[in-house]
Amino acid sequence: MIKDDGYLGFETWWDMASILGVEAAKKQMINWQPTLESYPQDKVYAYINHGRWLADCIYCKTGAEVVFKDDPWFVCFHCFNQIVGGKRIQVKFPNKWNQIEKALENLPENQQNWNIGDLIP
Ligand SMILES: [Zn+2]
Repeated sequence: MIKDDGYLGFETWWDMASILGVEAAKKQMINWQPTLESYPQDKVYAYINHGRWLADCIYCKTGAEVVFKDDPWFVCFHCFNQIVGGKRIQVKFPNKWNQIEKALENLPENQQNWNIGDLIP
């Protein structure tokens, strides 16, 4: 369910994110370069919205990005994590993500929602 089927693997995702991200950054006059360097002090928390795992940016509080369990890293394509030098930060998924996905999988996509703090179904 929860759209990991569109996930093409880390390298493809990262290549795409890098190309699109660099373009988006340029438009905002931000000099962002994709980096595998991380900033371990911070993290974001994943939730489900309309069948997608997302995480909100803790820096600009504007960006929300699709995130992947297989590759739990976050770069905001709004502020490009500039506050921490453009480094990526870790995405925390709930321990019982499997149970959450199972409970939602037969609902229509717009009802596949789970927020941080919601009970694990
Ligand atoms: Zn941001």
